Amino acid sequence: MAAGYTPMIQQYLAVKADYQDAFLFFRLGDFYEMFFDDAIKASQELEITLTSREGGTEDRIPMCGVPYHSAANYIEQLIGKGYKVAICEQTEDPKQAKGVVRREVVQLITPGTVMEGKGLSDKENNYIASITAFDDQTYGFAYNDISTGESKVTLLSNNFEEVLNEIAVLSAKEVVVRSDFAGDLQKKMRERDVLAISFEDNSSIEMNFAGLLEDLNQDKLKQTAARLFNYLYRSQKRSLDHLQPVTTYQIHQYMKIDYYSKRNLELTETIRSKGKKGSLLWLLDETMTAMGGRMLKHWIDRPLINKEEIVHRHTLVDVLINHYFERQELREKMKEVYDLERLAGRVAFGNVNARDLVQLKRSLLQVPFLKQILQNMQNQEMIQIAESLDPCEEVTDLLEQAIVENPPLSLKEGNIIRDGYHEQLDQYRDASRNGKTWIAQLEREEREKTGIKSLKVGYNRVFGYYIEVTRANLHLLQEGQYERKQTLTNAERFITPELKEKEALILQAEEKCGELEYELFTEIREIVKEQIPRLQALAKAVSELDVLQCFAQVSEERRYVKPKFSDERRVVIKDGRHPVVEKVLNSQEYVPNDCFMDGDREVLLITGPNMSGKSTYMRQIALTAILAQIGCYVPAEEAVLPIFDQVFTRIGAADDLISGQSTFMVEMLEARNAIVNATQNSLILFDEIGRGTSTYDGMALAQAIIEYIHTRIGAKTLFSTHYHELTVLEEELSKLKNIHVSAIEHNGKVVFLHKIKEGPADKSYGIHVAQLAELPPELIDRANEILTALEQPDIQAIPRKSEAHVIQAAPAKPDTVVEQPAQLSFFDEPAEKKKTDLSSKEKRVLDKIKEIDLLDVTPLQAINLLYELHKKLK
Ligand code: ADP
Repeated sequence: MAAGYTPMIQQYLAVKADYQDAFLFFRLGDFYEMFFDDAIKASQELEITLTSREGGTEDRIPMCGVPYHSAANYIEQLIGKGYKVAICEQTEDPKQAKGVVRREVVQLITPGTVMEGKGLSDKENNYIASITAFDDQTYGFAYNDISTGESKVTLLSNNFEEVLNEIAVLSAKEVVVRSDFAGDLQKKMRERDVLAISFEDNSSIEMNFAGLLEDLNQDKLKQTAARLFNYLYRSQKRSLDHLQPVTTYQIHQYMKIDYYSKRNLELTETIRSKGKKGSLLWLLDETMTAMGGRMLKHWIDRPLINKEEIVHRHTLVDVLINHYFERQELREKMKEVYDLERLAGRVAFGNVNARDLVQLKRSLLQVPFLKQILQNMQNQEMIQIAESLDPCEEVTDLLEQAIVENPPLSLKEGNIIRDGYHEQLDQYRDASRNGKTWIAQLEREEREKTGIKSLKVGYNRVFGYYIEVTRANLHLLQEGQYERKQTLTNAERFITPELKEKEALILQAEEKCGELEYELFTEIREIVKEQIPRLQALAKAVSELDVLQCFAQVSEERRYVKPKFSDERRVVIKDGRHPVVEKVLNSQEYVPNDCFMDGDREVLLITGPNMSGKSTYMRQIALTAILAQIGCYVPAEEAVLPIFDQVFTRIGAADDLISGQSTFMVEMLEARNAIVNATQNSLILFDEIGRGTSTYDGMALAQAIIEYIHTRIGAKTLFSTHYHELTVLEEELSKLKNIHVSAIEHNGKVVFLHKIKEGPADKSYGIHVAQLAELPPELIDRANEILTALEQPDIQAIPRKSEAHVIQAAPAKPDTVVEQPAQLSFFDEPAEKKKTDLSSKEKRVLDKIKEIDLLDVTPLQAINLLYELHKKLK
């Protein structure tokens, strides 16, 4: 420890040593102060003034601070940027302290452990995950949402991509690993938007959470969950009684949608704005409770693959659709249901106030109504759900009896507990009330006695109760009638021994009331705490019901149908629509399309002009499958679907800007991911694969990929391409069929019909699209000219630009070929064009160039050489 610093700075440095990776909020009176580098960094991040203070050494110490009462806002800002904040409080009464007041860190707030505030979105979980890498190359993966207490754990194979995928599915904000966890893997996690990586080396099962791990049957799972809990207890330093027992899950219990596909399909956020608006979640979210909102997102992230479970959800949606009025009533009542799950968390955490408990009561009071409405539907399944809803009457009764209807926010000012709940409290209140009545009485009597109408009895914090007489009336008082206490400009204030006596009684009673009320409140909170598991079970049941009513609501409103499932892996969609595009466009404008696939039609090759609707069609098929498997109805007139185990997509525009990989590399990575992992039961969507490289290269790759999927994998595949040449594959590959999006030409312009038809598209409409985009007419004419030339099989070179289009260009030599567009540079040049007459001078120059060893030339030599060659030719 640096000598020379004052004892307080020494104390600061000692605490800071344990929290190197966090901002240390050091409590000094009414402020949290930061020092040294923390102060410099925080002043920049929070845009607050950097000052300095004496610290015992020659140099002043950089310092900045935030007021205690508004700290929450600053903490949120730092957490939002991925930082951690350690809260260091005074843990002894400064009056009792000998020397520097004792201070300790009472909580470490991190991106993955936020309990309240803006960092916590109502309709989203806030997950923290932990990973354990085992010697056999498998990974243990556990996650928890500390605000709801939910935790799960699983084992993943040796492919780190699976781990990354889980992180992405959960949008985990923070990941806890052992301190020696591989650096390159940490880097990959950061690339997936993980805000913070934290270290915890202790993975042993400690007493305080051993019970939560009882259901886990493997050591690896226990270790992984224990690492997470050790971190949570170490950072939170308080009761976490709301943590629910950890359960296991397997990723293959759900339809697998990898990171890229999830983004491409815009399931929970759009690619461009990264916001919810425009995503499938946005379309579906008709949930009425925050818990339901979170559950909906969870269901979208993890579509089911078990047919019975899916069909069960559909059956319930069906019942809810058929009971319109009951559904609307359910929605009304659910509006009144507060976030029970997070509330339970805050009860355990010890940061609920009386208003929260009133909210809890009001929410619980809705449960009997919900039960009744479900029963009214007279459906066995709904009655079962009704029976499973536990109104937690003991809690409601207790809160009803104990807590007033509109309590204040503060817990220390009293007025929380109802009269009649506690005898002693009532007595104190009586005393204080009687005292106040006595004082009112006194005022009346003294007015009469003195004849001063304006005489009043008042109260202030410094002098307590007093009698006030205005200066003008002072002469009416008898000498020594009252004891003079304070002189104001216009009045005098007096006291009497009797008044002081009553005052002592009142104040004492009030103080006792305050203390007792706080004590009673804590007691009530403890009683509620014991009921947390019941509240959590209720929260889960209500959230599920909320999502189901949401499915019913959307399905009815948007005219979706119940899908059927085919065991023969058939896809029959009649008049299917893209749910989000349809909503955005307005239903009338959307052109519905069929899709038919079976054993003879595994791969559909889609051709058609740009902007005709190819990728919309492909996405629509995937979204239909996903909607079906989360238990919702689907946007079509009729739908028969297989149950897909995985969905893969490579759809343009999702270029991975964050990781800085080239578009083509991302394209290939996504393609690889699908090809390696897809099975016969998967769905693959490839949009314009191979577009990112040169023509022949791209076409060759596209064809090889199609052949591989067709022959080796057999997954249901939709492949769109603008390589018209690929359509001949239909003749060789028995299970591949051409389809196209039709467009018509009208007055020389292209009109998109957005209608899917059998067979290949007959023409490329690229130039027409360019025309629609209003490129200069001159350029469009030229493009048409080149196209016509290219389409003639015996033409060996692209014609020169016709003179009319040449503006100020140098005259082309009669025997040189006009440069071809870059896209076509791989075309073989006709043999005779290669034979060019070179002069001997030119030959010598060429020979000279051939001789140059490029690796051995400096830039200066090169420019000299170029100069020389140029001179020679001239
Ligand atoms: P492509 O992939 O062929 O370039 P997109 O699928 O991106 O074309 O579609 C281009 C635009 O056409 C979309 O933004 C959408 O607004 C519209 N569109 C696509 N399909 C339909 C349809 N079935 N009905 C109405 N409009 C559609």
